[in-house]
Amino acid sequence: MVKHTPMMEQYLKIKAQYKDAFLFFRLGDFYEMFFEDAVTAARELEITLTKRDSGQKEPIPMCGVPYHSAENYIRTLIEKGYKVAICEQVEDPKAAKGVVKREVIQLITPGTVMERSMLDDGENNYIASLSHFEDGSYVIAYNDLSTGENRLALIQQGWEAVIHELYNQPVKEVVISPELPEERQDVLREKVNPTLSYQKEADLKGEHRPLCRHLNDNRLIEGFSRLINYIQDTQKRSLDHLQEAEVIELQNSLSLDMYSKRNLELTETIMKKGKQGSLLWVLDQTVTAMGSRMLKKWVERPLLDKASIERRQEVVEGFYRNFMERDSLRDILKSVYDLERLAGRVAFGNVNAKDLVQVRRSLQKIPTLKECLLQFEQKEVRELAENLTFPDNLVVLLENSLVEDPPVSIKEGSLIKDGYNPQLDTYRDASKNGKKWIAELEQREKQETNIRSLKIGYNRVFGYYIEVTKANLHLLPEGRYERKQTLANAERYITPELKEKEQLILEAEEKSVDLEYQLFAEIREEMKNHIPVLQSLAETVSAIDVLQSFATVSEENNYIRPEFSDHKLSIKQGRHPVVEQVMKDGSFVPNDVFLNNERNILLITGPNMSGKSTYMRQLALTAIMGQIGCFVPCEQAELFIFDQIFTRIGAADDLVSGQSTFMVEMLEANHAIANATDKSLILLDEIGRGTSTYDGMALAQAIVEYIHDHIGAKTLFSTHYHELTSLAESLDKLKNIHVRAEEFEGNVVFLHQIQDGAADESYGIHVAKLADLPENLIKRASDILEQLETNWDGKETARPEAEPETESGQLSFFAHAEPSNPPVKAKQGQSEQKIVEELKNLELFDMTPMDAMNQLYQLHKKA
Ligand code: ADP
Repeated sequence: MVKHTPMMEQYLKIKAQYKDAFLFFRLGDFYEMFFEDAVTAARELEITLTKRDSGQKEPIPMCGVPYHSAENYIRTLIEKGYKVAICEQVEDPKAAKGVVKREVIQLITPGTVMERSMLDDGENNYIASLSHFEDGSYVIAYNDLSTGENRLALIQQGWEAVIHELYNQPVKEVVISPELPEERQDVLREKVNPTLSYQKEADLKGEHRPLCRHLNDNRLIEGFSRLINYIQDTQKRSLDHLQEAEVIELQNSLSLDMYSKRNLELTETIMKKGKQGSLLWVLDQTVTAMGSRMLKKWVERPLLDKASIERRQEVVEGFYRNFMERDSLRDILKSVYDLERLAGRVAFGNVNAKDLVQVRRSLQKIPTLKECLLQFEQKEVRELAENLTFPDNLVVLLENSLVEDPPVSIKEGSLIKDGYNPQLDTYRDASKNGKKWIAELEQREKQETNIRSLKIGYNRVFGYYIEVTKANLHLLPEGRYERKQTLANAERYITPELKEKEQLILEAEEKSVDLEYQLFAEIREEMKNHIPVLQSLAETVSAIDVLQSFATVSEENNYIRPEFSDHKLSIKQGRHPVVEQVMKDGSFVPNDVFLNNERNILLITGPNMSGKSTYMRQLALTAIMGQIGCFVPCEQAELFIFDQIFTRIGAADDLVSGQSTFMVEMLEANHAIANATDKSLILLDEIGRGTSTYDGMALAQAIVEYIHDHIGAKTLFSTHYHELTSLAESLDKLKNIHVRAEEFEGNVVFLHQIQDGAADESYGIHVAKLADLPENLIKRASDILEQLETNWDGKETARPEAEPETESGQLSFFAHAEPSNPPVKAKQGQSEQKIVEELKNLELFDMTPMDAMNQLYQLHKKA
């Protein structure tokens, strides 16, 4: 057994309780880390790893960060998904017998950070808990500690639905029961990628019970309890701002599977993972952080209830039409601070006077906001105005007590207004009078000594002093002054009466700073009673901000208000909201969509790059925009209210991802088929391309037939298998449409126009030409195509002959190329040789045309 010093013993004992966190162990002005923690932290934080002599053979690895700059280091670790346990000295080191007592006062985790520098204004910071039950159901509980929001979802459709839900609602941390099977934990890590934490105990104690008293399902209570217990254990303080748990009725919102959320790039793009280029990016013209967070929530959960959607539309319409009022509305909103997070900080106890001044300024704006809203004729807008209420005494308290611009620190005074507290005024008077007396003394001394440059100053070490330059020293009377400090060209003196006044002033100032802190603490406590009011104001202001954002975006981009119908979907001259923005020059070609119960599957044919998947995405995005209450990009629209949207859309990164494209396709298609209803929208883009032609086509056909016969979901299906267009003859609700492309002087020209009927030619090879593939390669492809077309009889034996062959038995692409590209080895660099090698190794006849294109594209990029 290694024998450690008593302090190390203490460290090890505490560390044993926080195995999955970095233990920041307070030693004087530093937080120190030891052993493994130190090694990892030194690497992650790029700080020096040192050693502490342990009296043993092996010194202990150690590293540390200064107390005053710890926040930055903690942030770095949290952003990387780690947890940090803050261990403080909890008794006065002077009073301690032996080792100073230390305790962990807070466990900071990715899902529970409250420090403002670690929170993103525009994003909620969710932590979730996951509980599973014997009947096969699951409960997910969400909390955002910075705002106090609590929500619960009961999921009865099994494990896969859990993953889709968690994917749709990004969380930083998931608290699970240690009994959740390992392989499920792995799936969570892989798909949702949160920090995983464990909490066995799921029985809520004492003070937080009221938060779930309205819940009448034990599963919900248990799920919620797991989360709150975990938060309570990590934060170790009162959490007064937590709101009652609200049950998310999943069946009340449009359900988007994780593939759709990703493929449709609702809140972030697939490639860059950033907001820019996503639907959210187009829609976000909010002016408050609260509004931008709420917008994201709305996009993630579009509505199903027509009346609720129309209520939002009414407000948007009001804001849309009255752009002058909307402009002033935006101006007012800009001066409302983040009331939601401010309320969170009030409760958490880390609010300062600056924050409370922000609360005050926001509250002062509310009446103007209300007035502005009451000018609108729409009753829905006026209803919003009516929700904007708060008790007068709240703002009066803040107005009377806090100065205009208080400092960040709450322990150095200058927080409280004169006239708020008589005792404080007395102290201030005393100090003020003392200072006045000193100013008068300065005048008197000047006159008596006749030294014009004599002055009275103050410093922390010597207090008040009389300063006389060396040149004037001879003018000073003897014996009256006591020398205190000598400078290069002056002397500083004190007198007994100056000392006496100084004493009075300092005492008054010290007392007033203490009193100010005490008064501030009282105000902060009082504010806790108003947390629900602030939260409800925050909620209304956020909604107003989102709705004005919809109006602003809709006006800027010429969106129109859609209507909803049960029996048909008709979009006239629809546009893709994001592509249209990116193209900017107005060259986006609008298209119509028409679907009804007799025409519910559209089979889209057309060359690659002609706009098929843009058209499909456009429909889904339009539906989502409609169901969140926004206007939509087209000239006229009647929309279905879809209950679910499923997508299988080829994404660029399929080509690079490790998982086989075919497997991904089948998983996504299967998910759609298993869950869709006749009220759902399914988008299937080029399904079956991930495998060889016949398999792919057979599967594609079987999938369409299944949807047609058994589901009846509205479906858009794009394919380059021209043969599938004949399905329109056997499936009466399936219609062919195609993207028009024209040949012009041997090149293909994409018109991006959708028309009824099937496309009549394949343009793949022309696309290759557009990509500047070598002439002779294109020619060879045309030959192969010709052979395929003449030989096609549906049997697998019908494969084109490859000819002519070179001596080595390889295809002759480069044999033809040689005259213009002399000696391969002499001229070409290594990379080109590699390309030739790769080309030789291609299993050309086991590839789909799409695969061949992809390979060529890859090779072309390398060349
Ligand atoms: P496909 O799915 O047929 O291969 P995409 O939908 O990916 O084709 O579109 C290819 C390109 O054509 C896109 O990058 C887009 O910029 C452009 N495009 C698509 N639809 C339109 C349109 N309606 N108007 C203008 N450009 C379009």
